[in-house]
Amino acid sequence: MSPLAAGAAAAAASVPGALARVDTLSGLLGAGLLLALLGLWLFRRVSLRLRRRLAAAQGQLEALRTHDPLTGLLTRQALEAGLEAATRACDDGRRRLALLYVGLDNFRSVNDSDGPGAGDAVLVEAGRRLAALPGPAPVAARVAGDEFALLVEADRERAWLAAAEVIALLSRPYRVEGREHELTASVGIAVYPDDGSRPRLLAHAALAMRAVKRGGGGAHACYDPALSVDRREQSELLQDLRHALERGELQLYYQPKIDARSLQVTAAEALLRWQHPRRGMISPLIFVPLAEQHGLIGTIGRWVIEEACRQAALWRGRGLRMRVAVNLSPHQLRQDDLVPYIEATLARHGIPPSRLTCEITETVAVEDTEVTRRAFERMRRAGLHVSIDDFGTGQSSLATVRRLPAAELKIDRAFVADLASAKARTIVQTIVKMAHDLGMRVVAEGVETEAQRDLLVEMGCDELQGFLFARPMTATAIALWADDDGDEGQRGFRDSLFAPTLPAPLDLPAAYAALPGAGGAG
Ligand code: C2E
Ligand code: MG
Ligand code: MG
Repeated sequence: MSPLAAGAAAAAASVPGALARVDTLSGLLGAGLLLALLGLWLFRRVSLRLRRRLAAAQGQLEALRTHDPLTGLLTRQALEAGLEAATRACDDGRRRLALLYVGLDNFRSVNDSDGPGAGDAVLVEAGRRLAALPGPAPVAARVAGDEFALLVEADRERAWLAAAEVIALLSRPYRVEGREHELTASVGIAVYPDDGSRPRLLAHAALAMRAVKRGGGGAHACYDPALSVDRREQSELLQDLRHALERGELQLYYQPKIDARSLQVTAAEALLRWQHPRRGMISPLIFVPLAEQHGLIGTIGRWVIEEACRQAALWRGRGLRMRVAVNLSPHQLRQDDLVPYIEATLARHGIPPSRLTCEITETVAVEDTEVTRRAFERMRRAGLHVSIDDFGTGQSSLATVRRLPAAELKIDRAFVADLASAKARTIVQTIVKMAHDLGMRVVAEGVETEAQRDLLVEMGCDELQGFLFARPMTATAIALWADDDGDEGQRGFRDSLFAPTLPAPLDLPAAYAALPGAGGAG
């Protein structure tokens, strides 16, 4: 046998044994591999499950970060994160984005009286109403306990109307477990880009909302840069306000109300101004809330009444028979001696009570508290002329208005500003009809254009007030205006101002053509 063949034979003879060894080895290897694969599979399964769980947890966390678990609305973080993209679309200056910061008034009373469960139910319902706001879908967020924010594509006028709508929606009763809760809302508006850069927008809207709350709530206001005074400045301002009266820095400006038919001046509304020695003229929207918050409004309010009556007496001395109107703050209404004080002041200056108008904002007027009711009853008995200011922003029903001894309704200027919209026109028309049915006169405030004036006259408004006719001005300016007979444009005003307010024959086109300073006198 050749070595080759022997080798081959030997090799052939050893094959089965080798094969058997290989079998065992590969079996072992296979089992090991299988085990390893199984392990790997198990590991992958476990880690997949873990990853899934992690992802779910992460998702939940994200959801918590982006969505408020109670109301399902966006969170503050999510709202702020989205603002970047949303505002970028407005950077070309052609579009406006409005941020409405909404705070529920008296929310704490629900928690206190019926427990946190009831409070939660009210928040859920409030969130639902906000998310369902009619019109272009807003972005709604819950930004703090009882505070919400709405982002809408709107300019200032539209935002103003949307805010009124929000207040109306949130002021409807909340029914929780058979109990009814009545809340109101305060809204602050900041418009991008006019009212601040993106990072400041939410803070600015919140500042405006807080100013509304300080004024008694239930209303809306736009952001004003003066609101941004920081705490130190705020306390400085307060310090200065404490001395403003004695230093003679407070002043009353007067803005006429014009009879829509005769164009005679029927009344002059006293509007407070603060001539600050360093800051210049400060709006009452800034310092009246500050005065209310820090117990100064009683003194300031009395001064307003005294000063307005003194001025009315001077005007009467010159043959001017118009009413003088003062604005009363909610805090004043709560003072028991308010009406006796007004009566005494009127008597001292020889003014009949019916010649003084007390303007009270609608939201305060319809407050059904015992105090408000008593104040109104006293005013009625005293024979004062009561006017419901900023009407249309609150949620007054016909029945509530009927109960009040008011002789005048002032349609809020937001509706006047939006008369181009059919909806606002319908609202104004309804208010006019309702007021007339109740025997009240209707004043439209904030009339700025001739188109608004014509529509309001057509709709039956009795009196008009606004920059179109005259801006608020000092008592001296009114007197000078009246005395100045060299200016053709002002003569018409002078004549009507000093004429008794008797109805004149109706000649609308001619009368309006002769109107002084049709572009905004004063
Ligand atoms: P209000 O009583 O509704 O007064 C009307 C406001 O609208 C005034 O602002 C007036 O200047 C402004 N206005 C008048 N016509 C026009 C117009 O055509 N267009 C525009 N855009 N605005 C017009 P003002 O004087 O800044 O007063 C703001 C608010 O401050 C008043 O609203 C009133 O609620 C409050 N206020 C003013 N004086 C007093 C006061 O003596 N006591 C109290 N408690 N509040 C006051
Ligand atoms: Mg007023
Ligand atoms: Mg008003």
